[in-house]
Amino acid sequence: MAPRRAAELFRAEAGSPERFRATLYGALGATGAGHLTDRALAEALAPTPCEVVNKAEIVLKQHPNGLLLEAISGEKVTLSRLFFSTGGGELADENGGVVDAPAGRAIEYGFTGVGELLEGCAAEGRPLWSAAEEAEEDLWGFLEEIWSAMERAVERGIATGGALPGGLKLERKAMPYLARAKKLRGTLGELGRISAYALAVSEENAAGGRIVTAPTCGSCGTLPGVLYHLFRKREAPKRAIFEALATAGLFGACVKANASISGAQVGCQGEIGTACAMAAAAAAQVFGGSPRQIEYAAEMAMEHSLGLTCDPVMGLVQIPCIERNAAAATVAFTRAGYALLGDGHHRVSFDEVVETMYRTGCDMSPGVQGDGHRRAGDGEEEVVGAAGAAGVKSAKGEKSVKEEDHRPEVRGGRKSFWQKRSPATGPGCRGRGALWSDPSPWPSPRGRGDTLGGNGGEG
Ligand code: SF4
Repeated sequence: MAPRRAAELFRAEAGSPERFRATLYGALGATGAGHLTDRALAEALAPTPCEVVNKAEIVLKQHPNGLLLEAISGEKVTLSRLFFSTGGGELADENGGVVDAPAGRAIEYGFTGVGELLEGCAAEGRPLWSAAEEAEEDLWGFLEEIWSAMERAVERGIATGGALPGGLKLERKAMPYLARAKKLRGTLGELGRISAYALAVSEENAAGGRIVTAPTCGSCGTLPGVLYHLFRKREAPKRAIFEALATAGLFGACVKANASISGAQVGCQGEIGTACAMAAAAAAQVFGGSPRQIEYAAEMAMEHSLGLTCDPVMGLVQIPCIERNAAAATVAFTRAGYALLGDGHHRVSFDEVVETMYRTGCDMSPGVQGDGHRRAGDGEEEVVGAAGAAGVKSAKGEKSVKEEDHRPEVRGGRKSFWQKRSPATGPGCRGRGALWSDPSPWPSPRGRGDTLGGNGGEG
């Protein structure tokens, strides 16, 4: 999604060159085919031809997902820009500035972690989701759109058979698995349905269909897998689903702000682990959990995802990604139920687990962090675009935007109801610039081919 958007922005700026060249660095090169990046770039830059160069073996300092776009006429490069795909559809420039966020929603919340949210909830007697409602204009209208896209992705996925694109020739499983799950009773049937729904969305992603990044494309099946089941079979009201989405978004935003949701940076624990935490929080919300129980569900989901590596077979976002979404969805569902058994008190907080996840990701060898290749260190290769600016500076010893201005005004001039609470600091394990401290809170629809209409309701 982010490379397509980068190409669209670049095309608007580039005029009418004879051709384009797109160079994929690091993880973007390693998984470019799996994410259909080359196809997305060609479509966005058409009819002007685009040569795609894969430099997966070079990982840029700024971020593992680098994309250099060049406009060329004759032998002359008339314009070049360096972009980074930083997860969840967000796009950054070479200086770490956010160039584009999903659906333009680069919201900043006035809190620094889930712990602070919980304090606010306790002090104000408010549910978690009210923090999102406070910060976002037209939150419920936006979530209606998000939920509609999720439902349609599930329904397309369970109605489609055949092999997925790519060299693995992997057969879709959602449709036959759902048929079998419907024949099972009790817990097995329920977990079977959740698995099938999660498979459906993940298979749609692998086929280039329209999905919601929740928080990323690779982990897009987990949250809708759980929520679709709660909506269709457990008959949760739509309002409860929307509140669950709002709560899930808060947890995802905290991971994005304080660690990373990029598999290329911290391994799959940052993608599937975050998706599992979001889905567990959402399910606990639907089950009527207290803020502490919701936080406990999310904490367990993330804690038991620690150490998950990113090493997709043939660079395709299929194995282990698709099944991993199904596994995470069932884990999220059961963790939500488990959290409701207690009063929500537990030893390790969600914020601490997020910090641990980030540090674990830093300690992973590059081969399983999602890039699988050499990571540029000090003095190693650094690519800069036409502006000639140096890359993102190390944040070690520097204040992040969040730390300097921890009470930003939210969009539209409204302020968070957490405004008077004291700041906390993020983990700061590896050098991160201001970019890596920006919350990018909401999952967003992306892609093409949202062709099936209606929320017809598979049973
Ligand atoms: S293994 Fe996980 S992080 Fe890596 S591409 Fe698959 S879903 Fe994304």
